[in-house]
Amino acid sequence: MSKRDYYELLGVAKGASADEIKKAYRVKAKELHPDRNKDDPSAESQFKEVNEAYEVLKDADKKAAYDRFGHAAFEGGMGGGGARPGGGFGQQGDFASAFSDVFDDLFGDFMGGRQGGRQRAARGADLRYNLRVTLEDAYTGLQKTINVPTSVQCGACHGSGSEGGAEPTTCPTCSGMGKVRATQGFFTVERTCPTCSGLGQIIKNPCVKCGGAGRVQKDRALSVNIPAGVETGTRIRLAGEGEAGMRGGPPGDLYIFIEVAPHDIFEREGTELHCRVPVSMTAAALGGDIEVPTMDGGRSRVKIPAGSQSGRQMRLRGKGMPALRGGGVGDMFIELAVETPVNLTSRQRDLLREFEALSEDNNPESKSFFSSVKGFWDSMKG
Ligand SMILES: [Zn+2]
Ligand SMILES: [Zn+2]
Repeated sequence: MSKRDYYELLGVAKGASADEIKKAYRVKAKELHPDRNKDDPSAESQFKEVNEAYEVLKDADKKAAYDRFGHAAFEGGMGGGGARPGGGFGQQGDFASAFSDVFDDLFGDFMGGRQGGRQRAARGADLRYNLRVTLEDAYTGLQKTINVPTSVQCGACHGSGSEGGAEPTTCPTCSGMGKVRATQGFFTVERTCPTCSGLGQIIKNPCVKCGGAGRVQKDRALSVNIPAGVETGTRIRLAGEGEAGMRGGPPGDLYIFIEVAPHDIFEREGTELHCRVPVSMTAAALGGDIEVPTMDGGRSRVKIPAGSQSGRQMRLRGKGMPALRGGGVGDMFIELAVETPVNLTSRQRDLLREFEALSEDNNPESKSFFSSVKGFWDSMKG
C-alpha cells in the first residue's frame, strides 16, 4: 500500500517552518475531527493519517529522517522484525499526545492538562543511533562497540518500581482502567487517570532508586555487527535493545542508521563502484597498460586500447561492492579522463606542431562535427 506524502497530507510545502506545519495541522485536525464528521466514515482514517504526519513532522529528528528517507525511515529494519503497524517510532503514546494538542484547542482547559487518551503503553521507546562508517568498512563489514545512553530496568526493584518488591495495587480512582470519563453536554471525553497517570496501578512505597518508574538511566555498551554491503540509509534493528519499559514493560528496539562517508577515489552506486582514472594524451592515443586501485586495497592492470577517448568506460567484473547478506558482488567501472598536457617545453611544442602538420584523419569526431556544423550554417542561409 502506498502511503501519502506527509507534507501533502498537511497541505504544506516541503520547506515549511515548524510554525506553518503546526498551523496547518490544527486546521486539518479540526476539519477532520471525528466528532465533527459523524456522517463521514472516511474522516476518521484521514484524521489518523494527518495525526501520523504531524507526529513525524513536528519532531525535528523524525522530520529529518523523513526528509531523507521518506516513509522508509519508519518502516521495518532489515534482517527480521519488520514494520510494526503505525510505524516504527510511533506507538500508542504518540497518537494520544498529538490528539491532545487539538483537544486543548477545541475544549480549552476542559480536558485539563496535556494528557489525553490512553497512556498505557508501558513499552520502552525505540532508540535511534546514527553511525557513520567509511566505504572501506562498508566493503568488509565490521564489528563495532557503541555506547548508547538509554534507560534500563532498575536493579533495586527488578523493574516493579516498588520498594522492597511489594506488589503494586489497583488504582482506586480509575479501578485499574487507567482512564476516567467526564460528560459535558453531548461530549463524553476520556482522559488519563490523574492518580496513576494511566498505568492503572499505584505504588504505595516507590523504589528510592528509580522513583517508582522501574527503570534508570544508563549508558550501555553494545557490540554491533555491521554486515558487509551496508549503504547510507541501511537500518539495523536490534530488537529489545531500546529503552526499558515502564515498570517492567517490554523494552523498545534500537535502530542503527548507517551513513557511509564519501570516498576520495571511489564513487558508489548500489553495488557498483565508479572510479575516474586520468590517462595521458599519448597513452590514450598509443594504448597501453595502466594500474588502477581496487576496493580491497589491491590493484588491477587494465589495458587501454589505442585511440581511447575521454569518458571511455571499462568494466572490472566482481571488483565492486558486496551486496548485503551475501547477495553477490558488483562490478567496478573505470572511466578514462584523457589529460591535455600542460607546461610544454619548446621542444615538446615543436614536436606537437610537427605532429599537427602531419595530421590527416586523426580526429574523426572533429571531422564529423564540423561537417554537421557546415550543413547547419548552409541550411540557415537557404
Ligand atoms: Zn488510575
Ligand atoms: Zn527501582
